[in-house]
Formats: sequence, structure tokens, C-alpha cells
Amino acid sequence: MDDLARALTGRLLLPADSDYARAKLAFLTWYDNRRPAAIALCESVADVQRCVEFAATQGIPVAARSGGHSYAGYSTPEGGLIIDVSRLDTVEVREDGTVVVGGGALLAGVFEAVGRAGRMMSAGTCPTVGVAGLTLGGGIGALGRKCGLASDQLVAATLVTADGVLRTVSDTREPELFWALRGGGGGNFGVVTSFTFRTIPAEPLTVWWLDYTTDTQPAILDAWQSWQADVPEEMWSQCRLGMPEGVAQIGGCLVGTDTSDIDDLARRIGARPRERVQRELDFLDTMRCFAEGNGERVAFASMSRMLTGPMDPQAMAELVTSEPRMWCLIDSFGGAIARGEGAFPHRDAIASIQVTNRADTVEQASRELAPVRDQLGQWFGANGFVNYIDPELPDWRRAYYGESLPRLEAVARKYDPDRVFAFPQGI
Ligand SMILES: Cc1cc2nc3c(=O)[nH]c(=O)nc-3n(C[C@H](O)[C@H](O)[C@H](O)COP(=O)(O)OP(=O)(O)OC[C@H]3O[C@@H](n4cnc5c(N)ncnc54)[C@H](O)[C@@H]3O)c2cc1C
Repeated sequence: MDDLARALTGRLLLPADSDYARAKLAFLTWYDNRRPAAIALCESVADVQRCVEFAATQGIPVAARSGGHSYAGYSTPEGGLIIDVSRLDTVEVREDGTVVVGGGALLAGVFEAVGRAGRMMSAGTCPTVGVAGLTLGGGIGALGRKCGLASDQLVAATLVTADGVLRTVSDTREPELFWALRGGGGGNFGVVTSFTFRTIPAEPLTVWWLDYTTDTQPAILDAWQSWQADVPEEMWSQCRLGMPEGVAQIGGCLVGTDTSDIDDLARRIGARPRERVQRELDFLDTMRCFAEGNGERVAFASMSRMLTGPMDPQAMAELVTSEPRMWCLIDSFGGAIARGEGAFPHRDAIASIQVTNRADTVEQASRELAPVRDQLGQWFGANGFVNYIDPELPDWRRAYYGESLPRLEAVARKYDPDRVFAFPQGI
């Protein structure tokens, strides 16, 4: 470790360092007891290269960390090296409308820069999520049906592969690796040090939601599934069921201001909402509106499936709220997501379903989620979204990557033949 510490511009924190205990903590508190061997606070691409070379020669576990929001704590490897790239967080919007983003940037910084430049793009909702982890798994967000996944907007990336080489990849440079980065999951092919995304000129947006009493949950799902099949791709929507205190909500983001489709949805649901909200906002305020929490660390477990066919609204509502501290988000797909390219395999999905549980312990949360995961798998297929990575998901390779799996395995064999970047759910 002394050699590595000397080779880095940034600090290398070891367990004896006073800053180590805080620096190792990621977003989910359930993994706080993990003890990495060292945390490299990288200040430059060269620092990342030295770390990868070190891990490869020493054969120790290694993981990049950007936003630290991995649901399974995979950016905190027990006994391994954390390559913390959070200082590589510059964001530059260029004249041609592309935005170049450091591998450690958080969504908040990107939205801020893109919004201020009068542009917009689609990524996730939580401002403290890392662009890296989110984009490498696809990345769904409130403009997804209009702009595609975060990975669909990617035009190039630079990354340090297992041999320590810095590579720039795009459609024309190492295209297989570029394909793999667009949905092949965080941590699998190297440490990304920058992303270049396309953006589009900003348009007025309408953020809206309808809030009902919990007995309306089946009616919401019933109305949503026929309505969502008909609305234009300018309309993105999300159903929210479950805690806290019995939520039954449907909301979304419309590119534009003609809200007649929301009237139509409200008519289809039939019941009178407790609250109806519609706000015309610019891109930046829209992203702020979707931002949840204030970045405080949390404890929860999550599982995901893709909605691939019609659902029984009553059975679905009962299943995903079957425990008191469970809640469910159903995020609409279709539109530009269905047309995107790259390794992300769930292009035909109608929506992603995420069920989260805030039980007292990770064991209890996982135990209570298991029947939900199994039932959803029986209804809609044994698939799952790698960004909602789930350590308990059976046959996870196929679930996350579907038909892209053999091609992703070939890319991983080529660029990481010695499995330097191996982790429990690594390709
Ligand atoms: C509160 C919350 C809200 C979320 N909202 C959304 C959402 O709206 N849409 C969505 O799609 N997802 C969402 N997610 C899921 C999120 O996209 C994933 O958890 C993602 O992996 C987090 O990335 P990160 O960089 O923050 O996490 P990390 O824990 O830093 O990284 C996640 C994985 O990616 C690897 N990785 C990190 N940095 C790099 C890098 N530079 N190069 C290569 N590999 C790297 C890590 O080793 C790890 O395996 C949300 C998660 C949370 C906790």
C-alpha cells in the first residue's frame, strides 16, 4: 500500500487514518460494517490508472465508487480497494450541445449545468446518485420516453480498463466496449473517468400528480395501464403505491403544457383525487421537483422486475403493498427507450417495477421481498433492472442482461481476462 500511496496525487486512506471511517460509508447504511483495505481519493485519471494497476498486480478486490448508491453496497468491497472518483466531477456543456461529465459527477451537478445552458436530458431523479453507476446500467428518469435512457444519450466515454490503459470509446472507437457500457452495469468493464452525452434544447415541462386514498390503488393501476399505452412519448408517468402512510399516487412529467391527457387519466380513474397538482416548470426546477430526500443516508432493500404484459390491478396492488414498510414505483417505458441502442436489454418492457422495503434489518427486508419477487417473476418473466441491483435475485445474469448476456461476456473476457473487476454480481 505504501507504494500506491506514493504513486497517487490524491490521498490513500487506510483503516488507521482518521478520515477512513467516514470515507468508506456509502448511501445505504446496511453496509457500514464492511471494511475495505484502502480508499483511494483519486484526483486525476492517472490516479485511477495507478489504482487499477495496483489491484491487478496484487490480486485484491477492487471497485470504483462514484455516488455510492449501489443497492448492494458493491462500491464498498470487503478487504478491497475503493477507487473513489468523486473528485472527478467536472461538468462542461459544449457549444455543440453535448455535455462532458467527469466519472465522479452526481446527477445534481449535471442537471444544474445542462439546465443553465438552456438544454435538457434524461437521467435519474435522485440528485446524489452518481452519473457513472446510473448510466452504465441504463438509467431511467422523468424524460425517459422523450430522450431515452441516460445511456441512450451517451456519445462517448473514457475509461481505464483492467490493463491500466485509458481508452476513449464511441460508435467508431472500440464500438463493442462502447456498446457494453450502455446497459452492461456499473463496475464490469473498467473505471469510467468521463462521459459525453447529447442534450436537447430545453422545452417547457409540466410536472403533475394525482393523489388518492389507498382504496383507489387498483383503479389507478387499471386506468394507467390502458392510458399509458396511448399517450405520446412526451408523457412520462410513475405510479407510487405503499408507504409512507398509504400512498396511492400517479404522477409524471410532460414535455409541453397541454394537459388534456392528464384530464383523461383522471376520468379513467374515476375516483376524486385528494389532491391534483400541475406545475409548469423549466428543466432544472423539474429535476429539483423530482429530487427526493436531502441526501441523508438510508436503510432499505429493493427488488425489481420489468412489466412486460397486462397486470391484474387488484392482485398487483395487494402484492406490492403486502408488508407495512413496503412501497412500489412503476416507471413507464416505451417511446425513445424502446428505440435505444446498447446492451440494455429490456427495450420492449412497458415499465420497470421497483419494490422497496424499509424493514428493521436487511434480512427481514429481503425475506419479505422474496415472495413479491417470485410472484412478479411468474407474472412478467424472470427479469430485473441492474440499476436496482438485488443480491438475492436468482439467475441474475439472465435477469439483468437477457439476450445481451453472451455479447457482454465476450466483451468482459476481452477487456478483463483476469477478472480484476470481479464482484459478486459481476459479469
Ligand atoms: C435514492 C436512489 C434513487 C435512485 N434513482 C434512480 C433513478 O431515478 N434511475 C435509475 O436508473 N436508477 C436510480 N437509482 C439506482 C442507481 O442508478 C444505482 O444504484 C447506481 O448504480 C448508483 O450509481 P452510483 O455511482 O451512485 O453508485 P456506486 O455505489 O458508486 O456505484 C454503483 C456501481 O457502479 C460501479 N461504478 C461506480 N462508479 C463507476 C465508474 N466511474 N466506472 C465504472 N463503474 C463504476 C460501482 O463499482 C458499483 O458496482 C437510484 C438509487 C438510489 C439509492
